[in-house]
Amino acid sequence: MRVDKIFHRGQFHTFDPARPRATAMAVTAGRIVAMGDEGLLDLLSADHTVDLGGHTVVPGFNDAHNHMVFYGMSLADVDISSPPMHSVADICEAVRRRAAETPLGGWVLGAGYDQNKLAERRHPTAQELDAVAPNHRVWLRHTSGHMCTVNSMVLAEIASMPVPSGGELAMDADGRPNGLVLEQAQLMVRSLVFPVTVDRMVDAISQASQRYVSEGVTSATEAGVGGGLVSHSPLEIRAWQEARRRGMLDVRINLLVAVEALRHLDHAHDEDAPFAIEGGMSSGFGDEWLRIGGTKIFSDGSLIGRTSAMFEPFEGGGGAGECGCGFFQTEPEVLRRLILDAHRSGWQVCTHAIGDRAVATVLDAYADAQAAFPRSDTRHRIEHCGVIAEGLLDKVKTLGVVPVPQGRFISEIGDGMKAALGLHRTPDAYRQKSFLDRQIPLPGSSDRPVVNGAPLLGIHDMVNQRTASGEPFVPAEALTVEQAVSAYTAGSAYAAHEEGRKGRLRAGMLADFVVLGSDIFTIDRDGIGETRVEATVVGGEIAYDRIGIRNGGRSSSSSAGL
Ligand SMILES: [Zn+2]
Repeated sequence: MRVDKIFHRGQFHTFDPARPRATAMAVTAGRIVAMGDEGLLDLLSADHTVDLGGHTVVPGFNDAHNHMVFYGMSLADVDISSPPMHSVADICEAVRRRAAETPLGGWVLGAGYDQNKLAERRHPTAQELDAVAPNHRVWLRHTSGHMCTVNSMVLAEIASMPVPSGGELAMDADGRPNGLVLEQAQLMVRSLVFPVTVDRMVDAISQASQRYVSEGVTSATEAGVGGGLVSHSPLEIRAWQEARRRGMLDVRINLLVAVEALRHLDHAHDEDAPFAIEGGMSSGFGDEWLRIGGTKIFSDGSLIGRTSAMFEPFEGGGGAGECGCGFFQTEPEVLRRLILDAHRSGWQVCTHAIGDRAVATVLDAYADAQAAFPRSDTRHRIEHCGVIAEGLLDKVKTLGVVPVPQGRFISEIGDGMKAALGLHRTPDAYRQKSFLDRQIPLPGSSDRPVVNGAPLLGIHDMVNQRTASGEPFVPAEALTVEQAVSAYTAGSAYAAHEEGRKGRLRAGMLADFVVLGSDIFTIDRDGIGETRVEATVVGGEIAYDRIGIRNGGRSSSSSAGL
């Protein structure tokens, strides 16, 4: 039998229970045709053989919740994350420098600040930004994506707009907007900049794609396209198609369409009312490179920004909303209706819920939708599932709901989350082992650009459970390395209904895998985050090659026997 390629001399961890380890893989037309040992070279005739040099190999990483266009676009923004920023003064200085090289009246865009990590423990103010950039429009996005700070020139431009429900403009002591713009109110600022062109989005996707494969990401779920707070244009799906057509996309993409882009379409009178994008497309449309996975709905805000909907006030005050318990971005009654309509129309429903009150409300809505219109294997998701009481875990299991927490939050924003929750609620935050203990599926994800999205950093945190200050987060939730890698591969595939073609290395699956610089299963667990990705293979093609496996392998025709 003749095959396209044989990759050999690899230490493959297949995550296939039938054959957990292998040293060689045969590939044809982008798919695995056999896993085995060096004997495969004698059994099969290959057009090319690639020597993996004895390195550890795992299935390609799959980021189950990220924002790739957002990340690609933000690469051009001023980096105001911490480090390098230690104070509001540092941020102001960075804004002043960017303004100096930007035409008068132009935009100074910054991304990634977290007030919890600044010496002053507060957001910059419009006044402070005016002092360093009086003649520019300044827009600084919080790392959570749930709030931003703008200067007076921007405040003046949005002054005549009505504040959308689910949003707020924060005020100073005199009752004037202080520059902080919360949740849905960000739509006002966004309307000044977006939509961007398709070409700009394609460029962002291309830049992000190169970065992703260098970190071992072969698949990702884009959490919100085509509308709402996280989108850049109603034409976002076209940008993805265009990036693929131009050969700029090396990562397989599962799109979650923003619920704002769905419509109640006209339909035959003896047919159920469809809630879909124009043309009626719904979950599952597309191919193994680019597909529509589900619909994304926002229920609440962010934990570290203290806007997520909680049953009780945030620790130490400072919570948004009337009782200091955060608020719903979508009113619970509207939320229920959206979930019911989307469920009924066949969507995989993926609802952002972080606060314990939001999580409980979404679970209720999923239960009601399922009771009213029973469907099998829905796998509705709760994006983040930030705070969930132990008593609700069985309900998650019974409903077949997939929680989508972010391991990397533990270190990068874990201290802020602990401060917002207090000791008594922290054990409920960003659970992972409690899900696995109940056989609830667990994907791996980053919410990039909220935090650094390199999967090995996420896996590091899922295993180590330590915050940036070195404090333990929730040690009882720590995973083994195998469990964390399985989440980032098989778990993420399941969360996208794609476990039939990816997430494990066995015959019939896509030939997507990552070659690692060290054996993460045996090294000191403190070193997992520093492990290098040596090469990334997507569909049997080498998409990233740091160590030259492309040339190091004996690349010749018919190099093997029969
Ligand atoms: Zn997100």
